[in-house]
Amino acid sequence: MSELKVDTRLWSGKARNLSPYIPGEQPQHNNLCKLNTNENPFPPSPKVAAAISAVLTQQAEELRLYPAPESDDLRGALARAYDLDINQVFVGNGSDEVLALIFASFFMKERPLLAPDISYSFYPVYAQTFGVELVKIALEADFSIDPDAYRQPCSGIIIANPNAPTGLLLSLADIRKLASEHPNATIVIDEAYIDFAQAGTTVSAVSLIHELDNVLVTQTFSKSRSLAGLRVGMAFGSASLIEALTRMKNSFNSYPLDKLAQAGARASVLDTEYFEQTCQQVIDLRHSLTAELKALGFEVLPSQANFVFARPHDGDAIGIASALREQGIIVRHFDTPRIQEYLRITVGTAEQHQRLITALKELAAQ
Ligand SMILES: *Cc1c(COP(=O)(O)O)cnc(C)c1O
Repeated sequence: MSELKVDTRLWSGKARNLSPYIPGEQPQHNNLCKLNTNENPFPPSPKVAAAISAVLTQQAEELRLYPAPESDDLRGALARAYDLDINQVFVGNGSDEVLALIFASFFMKERPLLAPDISYSFYPVYAQTFGVELVKIALEADFSIDPDAYRQPCSGIIIANPNAPTGLLLSLADIRKLASEHPNATIVIDEAYIDFAQAGTTVSAVSLIHELDNVLVTQTFSKSRSLAGLRVGMAFGSASLIEALTRMKNSFNSYPLDKLAQAGARASVLDTEYFEQTCQQVIDLRHSLTAELKALGFEVLPSQANFVFARPHDGDAIGIASALREQGIIVRHFDTPRIQEYLRITVGTAEQHQRLITALKELAAQ
């Protein structure tokens, strides 16, 4: 690739001052063991491809037309699946886009936004993009969240739950407490990983929507529904919060989801059985990966997500990450205070875990 000398003369001050989010790398390379961006190791439901093919074979002519602007069929399916009214459901081009619209709709205010100091690294980027003052609240020494630390004036609070990259879960009682103590703030719970939380317990904040009108929950098709490539995310909240998002969307891009994405995502929502089965497989694989890493001397946080956050006994996370990379195994390391000695490892297939564990054993033997 040739070196591009960027001429910023014509750029707006805003564009010049951006510091964009740097996603985990997506190397286009065979035989890589890619455990760095929390994609699902299993394919999406076969019904997704069937629904997309049906659009292509039976309605290809209709691609001439714009798609349904409010994705009504998809939102209707989500509303039924999550026991909500359709006007309590919003969808966007990945939950990253939904989050961007949330920042613009609720946080561009005089009062700051509160977020944990260690969390999804896109939040500070959005804060900068939208001119939102972000106040970081330190996690406890064990990386848990203390709701009492959030007792200060704010326009909102955003928490990933389970948190990323720690994988730790905040209880529904604590979320309820945060939301009821801040009736004039929007409490956003980013549930990108919630479907991997303990099976059989209801830990999603979606149930709080019925009692608290300031709770907004985001979820995504990228992780638990194996559809990171389709780009679909959603928000659940009171009809008034959803209306703000809809207005913001329609002031920016009226058609964020194409026809194929709407059809594919809807098919995924309808295939509950496949969804529950693959989530359970990921949970089981998380348990076995945790045990194997612990046996190798790693400290592993109790994850409720599709990744584990692990510290090698000597703390040399960077050394391990680069040694693994030489063998085509990619894990995520964050060069961020407090978590430099940890690796975030995505739950993969049993074969991928075997390759990882074998490589780690060889490294330990050297
Ligand atoms: C992956 C992830 C997202 C973004 O998901 P997309 O729907 O793919 O944009 C949002 N929040 C967190 C915490 C994530 O890990």
